[in-house]
Amino acid sequence: MIMRLQRIILITIIFLATTLVTTQGATSSAARKSTVTSVSKSKKHSTKKHKSKKRSKKKKHNVNKKTSSEATKKDENVNVNKQSQTPPVYEVVTEEKSEDTFGEDIDIDFDVPSEELYGFSWTSEFLNPYKIKINDLPDSTWIDCRGFVFPVVKSAAANNHVTSNFGARRRRYHYGTDIGLKVGDSVVSSFAGTVRIVEYEARGYGHYIVIRHNNGLETLYAHLSKPLVRVNQEVTAGQLIGLGGSTGRSTGPHLHFEFRFLGNAFNTGKIIDYSTERCFADSYCITKSETFRHKADVERFNQMKYHRVRHGETLSYIAKRYGTTVKRICRLNHISRTTVIRPGRSIRYR
Ligand SMILES: [Zn+2]
Repeated sequence: MIMRLQRIILITIIFLATTLVTTQGATSSAARKSTVTSVSKSKKHSTKKHKSKKRSKKKKHNVNKKTSSEATKKDENVNVNKQSQTPPVYEVVTEEKSEDTFGEDIDIDFDVPSEELYGFSWTSEFLNPYKIKINDLPDSTWIDCRGFVFPVVKSAAANNHVTSNFGARRRRYHYGTDIGLKVGDSVVSSFAGTVRIVEYEARGYGHYIVIRHNNGLETLYAHLSKPLVRVNQEVTAGQLIGLGGSTGRSTGPHLHFEFRFLGNAFNTGKIIDYSTERCFADSYCITKSETFRHKADVERFNQMKYHRVRHGETLSYIAKRYGTTVKRICRLNHISRTTVIRPGRSIRYR
């Protein structure tokens, strides 16, 4: 009887011990599993992080290229430009250059797009040393307009409104915007950059300054009474660069202000809202079709030819000389056959 009781107790102990061992095993395997899951989760997380890093780099790269799908999404900011493109997201990427600097996905530093656009081309000799025709310009380039400062500082008595716009004039094409000022008013740099030209042109711009900006634009400030910067000097946006005046070919004190992109002037009014003296948006997309829409206008303008009338010359003489008709000359000059053409007058014949 005692022996039987002892056997039962022994069997019970063995059973309990076995159960305990199995349960413990199951618990530790579950714990192991959960560790694996958390490791793989954190692995996934780090991959995601890496991808987003790469994406942010790509975004940066696309500042000029505009090929990402994100770039085609609508954005209210550019509606002013009436373009379908979306401005780039300007990011401050603080990470250090990684190993892929030498791979295919090169991280180009577009914080200074002008370096990418103009390369090593730097001269104070010519206003447009690049000689890039409008047709050969990049299809689209985003310009960062943040930090813009209106080039003329308002003086109490001055009227800083636009006195002449960009566009065709009677005899010459006007490549800038004229802003009224008083002689001696402060003229400041519109963006941060480096002074490329400080020159004097008696029969044209008078005292003028050209600055290349980090955002890829060049600005020109003409008819100054006194330039206050030197070539190669770095300037900040809003820094005093000269005093307004009326030097060169000018009929009164004003600032002749130009935007140039790779040497080609375009209407400053495409970026600057002159009613508020601010930029329409934080960025502007330069395109051949929209920004340089005036190209056809300029070509037509350049084909116009004029003849300066000398003593004794008649309309029929001028028509014969240039192989055209009196009727056509009358139409081009809004005159009639009986109009007296005095010596010194310019008559358009083409
Ligand atoms: Zn002008």
